[in-house]
Amino acid sequence: MDFHHLRAQFPTLEQTLAGYPLCYLDTAATSQKPKQVLNAMARYYENDNANVHRAAHQLSSRATSNYETVRDKVCHFIKAKQREEIIFTHGTTESINLVAYGLTGQIKSGDLILIDTAAHHANIVPWQELAKRTGAIIKPIPLDSECRLDETAYEHLLQENPFIVALSHVSNALGTLNPVNRLVALAKQVGAITLVDGAQAIAHLDVDVQAIGCDFYVFSGHKMYGPTGVGVLYGRFDILDSLMPLMTGGEMIKTVSFEATEFNQLPNRLEPGTPPIAEVIGLGAAIDFLSALPREVIAKQEAELLSYLQTQLKQLGDITLYGANTSNIGAVAFNLADEHHQDVGILLDQQGIAVRCGHHCAMPLMQSLGLKGCCRASLGVYTSKEDIDRFIEAMASVKEMLL
Ligand code: PLP
Repeated sequence: MDFHHLRAQFPTLEQTLAGYPLCYLDTAATSQKPKQVLNAMARYYENDNANVHRAAHQLSSRATSNYETVRDKVCHFIKAKQREEIIFTHGTTESINLVAYGLTGQIKSGDLILIDTAAHHANIVPWQELAKRTGAIIKPIPLDSECRLDETAYEHLLQENPFIVALSHVSNALGTLNPVNRLVALAKQVGAITLVDGAQAIAHLDVDVQAIGCDFYVFSGHKMYGPTGVGVLYGRFDILDSLMPLMTGGEMIKTVSFEATEFNQLPNRLEPGTPPIAEVIGLGAAIDFLSALPREVIAKQEAELLSYLQTQLKQLGDITLYGANTSNIGAVAFNLADEHHQDVGILLDQQGIAVRCGHHCAMPLMQSLGLKGCCRASLGVYTSKEDIDRFIEAMASVKEMLL
């Protein structure tokens, strides 16, 4: 694999900021997009722009065919059983809301929802709203001393027969990896419905939803080198089919009269209105991009880079790393002594280095760590050892400025 050729696919990376070449270490927030994705979306608008599923004309049938082909690609990419199990949404957030709303009629007062303490707000708030509507109860699954999901505590909580278990595959704030196959299997033993948030896993790991065994798996296009505005809800057919639609309108119906409406079959039933067509096509191109890479080689390189990043940060001194385990994926969370994370971020930005600072949409996790926030550096396929070296050099200068 020619790394320079790979990196050259990302036009955004070829810029300077205040005289410094951009060093992009914020892929966990959103990844940069390769030309392949940008071109696919431009091609759609330039050649095929038409609404899907609706018209008799050729443009519409081309657009529909391109759109539906991506459903097959996603199905194959995450190894789902059938294409009807793939629902296009606008992102992970919408996907989880679809499930949490859709289960309203199935959960009752007093039922238990277990949520990973490291969960992103998108995997917390929709469940809280479901609990408010139904009287269900939410309990967090605690973390152990290494910021990993505490499996002993989890097994105890499972004895309370939860109705739903919502897990992160990879934590966006820390990069910690949950052994989801095992966790889901345990949840299934007590009959729980399981949802895995794969927003941070999908670009890094080979995801096999049938091997994981979860009922739902969700992710966003923009974190896997695709565009914003598109996401995926995978659901095992029967349970997906049982969801009450969150949104209703055109496309999701079979027949409508003023007396009664009959909903369409999956997948249309859960895709009301005009979908994000160009974005779905961009997502298809992102899947092609990822599938053409030697993913095992990339994963090994990413793991080596992450380990290098963790070690170099530790060696700098006056740095606290949070949950920095060897099995982590794609991100490292840290603070510099007692300095405010935002100050560190701003000073890094002045040297062209982009990291994320804040609570990372994971306030309960920050509370459990006794933090208001932290900095996070995250990696993508285009991250080089030179990027890490530049970041560490910049951190050394920030340390000298602030301490
Ligand atoms: N879940 C995780 C783990 C995330 O990292 C994110 C985004 O940062 C989300 C959910 C929400 O994704 P989106 O904003 O694309 O809907």
